[in-house]
Amino acid sequence: MMKKPAIFLDRDNTLIQDNGYIFEVEKFAWINGAAAALKRFHEANIPVFIVTNQGGIGRGIFSEDQMHHFNSHMIAAARNAGGFITDIAFCPHHPLSPDPAMAIACSCRKPEPGLLFNLAQKWKIDLSASVMIGDRDSDVEAGHRAGTYGYLFTQNSLDDLAKQVISNHFSPKTENANA
Ligand SMILES: [Mg+2]
Repeated sequence: MMKKPAIFLDRDNTLIQDNGYIFEVEKFAWINGAAAALKRFHEANIPVFIVTNQGGIGRGIFSEDQMHHFNSHMIAAARNAGGFITDIAFCPHHPLSPDPAMAIACSCRKPEPGLLFNLAQKWKIDLSASVMIGDRDSDVEAGHRAGTYGYLFTQNSLDDLAKQVISNHFSPKTENANA
């Protein structure tokens, strides 16, 4: 089976607004251009994955169930906007967790690349042709450590960056200009 390239997206402050540890559905709000970007990726037939540090679980600020509930709401909102989120991988650990099992030096907390490796194995993704996008250097670094291209989201609109990424990495090559 041929491996496919994909888009890996950070969640907080890349797709959704986060002014702290966000887990309440009532506070859900897209980042500017995020819904349009998800639609654009879906229409370009590019699988979209979310890789997100959720250290609030390890710190006891919210539960894993609360995070899943929030993510389900986001997945539904993406579908309503014409987008599609294939899968979400999260890291629950945090170095400041009071629980020693949650304060471990894990391989999944970005900039570690574990979340990307897990998704790539599960979904047969070609990491070397994939792109990681996030608002922090640790997102880009996680992508680089996993072997993907990395883009720091600094634009006013995520859709502007989506256009650029599709143009740079997912546009068909014009191998036969005379055809
Ligand atoms: Mg972020």
